[in-house]
Amino acid sequence: MGHTPDAVGALARAHEHALGWLSGLPERAVPAAASVADVVAALGAGLPDGPSDPAAVVDLLAEAVDPGLTAMPSGRFFGFVIGGTHPAGMAADWLTSAWDQNAGLRTVTPAATAVDDIAEAWVLDLLGLPPDSAVGFVTGGTMANFTCLAAARDAVLARAGWDVGSHGLVGSPGVRVLVGAERHASVDLVLRYLGLGTPEVVPVDEQGRIDPVALRESLAGGDERPVVVALQAGNIHSGAFDPFGEAIAAAHEHGAWVHVDGAFGLFAGAAPAYRHLVDGYESADSWATDAHKTLNVPYDCGLAIVRDPRALRAAMSMHGDYLIHDAAGDPFEKVPELSRRARAFTVWAVLRSLGRSGVAELVERLAGHATAFADGIAAIEGAEVLNDVVFTQVCAAFGDDDRTRDVVRRMLEDGTAWTSGSLWRGRAVLRISVSNWSTTDADVERTLAALGVVAQAFSQSPIRLPSVSVK
Ligand SMILES: *Cc1c(COP(=O)(O)O)cnc(C)c1O
Repeated sequence: MGHTPDAVGALARAHEHALGWLSGLPERAVPAAASVADVVAALGAGLPDGPSDPAAVVDLLAEAVDPGLTAMPSGRFFGFVIGGTHPAGMAADWLTSAWDQNAGLRTVTPAATAVDDIAEAWVLDLLGLPPDSAVGFVTGGTMANFTCLAAARDAVLARAGWDVGSHGLVGSPGVRVLVGAERHASVDLVLRYLGLGTPEVVPVDEQGRIDPVALRESLAGGDERPVVVALQAGNIHSGAFDPFGEAIAAAHEHGAWVHVDGAFGLFAGAAPAYRHLVDGYESADSWATDAHKTLNVPYDCGLAIVRDPRALRAAMSMHGDYLIHDAAGDPFEKVPELSRRARAFTVWAVLRSLGRSGVAELVERLAGHATAFADGIAAIEGAEVLNDVVFTQVCAAFGDDDRTRDVVRRMLEDGTAWTSGSLWRGRAVLRISVSNWSTTDADVERTLAALGVVAQAFSQSPIRLPSVSVK
């Protein structure tokens, strides 16, 4: 038996299917053609009674699911805020699966740990964050927020004389958590995981940036509880960044821990032309990002960055007599999981391939395309860009809410590109997020042309179609 005979056939088929998929992306309609039921029918829902050849299974999977795949890696996928997969990361990801390292322990998987250590240092260097910070490789932005805020919760309560690890939260002094009114919903979710309840909401300005004066007032109006302030680098609608210098100074005067959710915006710090957006963020205590977003590392890879490595270890480490602990610290002590994929391989590969200038150029290109979209949309009759386009996000309206929703729906029917519908500051919007490394000027032009046709067709059509909400 052994790996080789089975692996050769299955991997050869996977390689061919993967290249076929990637080469079809430029001309494929972006939305999926098949429904969930179609794909279930094509695969067959019955559990087989016996074994099949792995290569045949790969063929069946690739052929049956193909019509149900959304062209998310297409250069014309602008939905949500999700990013794509850079080729160096994709290939490293295949190897990560083949190598099959359980990346928790320093000495057991030296290769994974070495790359973890190098990628950690490179990320901190590129972002201009304190070089002694710890970086945990988690699944995505939500878990990066969770990991950082777990460290925050435990640290501020420890300073108040309460050991959460020993005593839990019942009977503790409690923690006040302050957030801007337009923080990402995942921040509320992780506060629930952490037993911290609903946060206190601080008003924001018209771009969704936290108001530092209001933050100062909220901090002053508090009780004796220790405080955590969660700021944001990159608002999913406007792309705006909180005013870090002022907000962090105010929070630190009150002894608060400051966390920055930079799921897609943190990498502005790696691009000289956009670095001003994050000015002062290096004074925070923790930072979270999803490396799949702006950095275009394969799923699943989030980075939880904590200034004080001891605080992160205190929140995440455990002891097992069977584990082979290392005095230098083990990778599992920086993340919620024990067994996990060696995610740093892909981060290393993308950073090694792009280099410092390539990362800056990637960020600048994404944001440059967003500016091109804003200019192009402004030129469409009846269309309006609602946000100041400072980074990678554009929110547009096409008249009243019904019209805007119809344009969103018709764009999906058209299939040239994927743009999302959303609601921002009480208005229906069509949202464009430029997050994929592979988007070209031609992709932007083709999408704008489709948008122009869709918007114009609508303005000439007297028929009011029922609006369909698009997630
Ligand atoms: C995407 C996003 C998140 C959540 O990240 P996931 O990687 O999807 O878990 C959190 N905050 C912001 C600002 C985001 O854009």
